[in-house]
Amino acid sequence: MARGHQKKLSQIRFQDKQEKLKKQQGHHVNDQKKAAQKALAYVCVVCRSQMPDPKTYKQHFQNKHPKFELPPELKDV
Ligand SMILES: [Zn+2]
Repeated sequence: MARGHQKKLSQIRFQDKQEKLKKQQGHHVNDQKKAAQKALAYVCVVCRSQMPDPKTYKQHFQNKHPKFELPPELKDV
């Protein structure tokens, strides 16, 4: 009986570990989602296009909206 009980306990511990791993992985996925949202943090003030980084935004702005003044956050990019 004692052995069977032990086995059950170790199974429970194993399941606990698996649960924790799943939670950690889930957390990781959330981080990636946040990173993806952060990556599209630049939105063109003129046409509302989303830009992955300031360099792309600056290029886009200079190519598409040359008549508009460059946003201050892009001037030193
Ligand atoms: Zn634009």
